[in-house]
Amino acid sequence: MQTNEILIPGVMNDEMIRHARGELPYEACGIIAGVAGKKAVKFYPARNELKSETRYNIAPEDLYSILMELEKKGLDVWGIFHSHPSSPAYPSATDIKQSYYPDSYYLIVSFLNPNKPELRVFKIDGEEVAEMVVIICQP
Ligand SMILES: [Zn+2]
Repeated sequence: MQTNEILIPGVMNDEMIRHARGELPYEACGIIAGVAGKKAVKFYPARNELKSETRYNIAPEDLYSILMELEKKGLDVWGIFHSHPSSPAYPSATDIKQSYYPDSYYLIVSFLNPNKPELRVFKIDGEEVAEMVVIICQP
């Protein structure tokens, strides 16, 4: 496995897409718990408090309860998920400006083609955006 490859369980991919589809036309968001730098364990959907088609902010009370649960389970914030209802699965200028977690992955699902949602994953460090190679794994 190359260092830029990451594994996403197929079930989790389906959960993220289902959550994001349910939030349309707004952007959806959530947190992926896991072991830092290793594997993704669980997807936690959250509310986008902005209810916006082009921006998101994880509702603070959702973020708080998710972080408490991660703490209890000894898991890290592995990734930060959001959707792009009508733009490509690439970080927007706002996404880059507001990426405060260089150690987390940024997962974006695009519904540009609603019949074929596309997941792409990035590391964002300052202005630097690096795309990861996503491998959807089946158990
Ligand atoms: Zn975005």
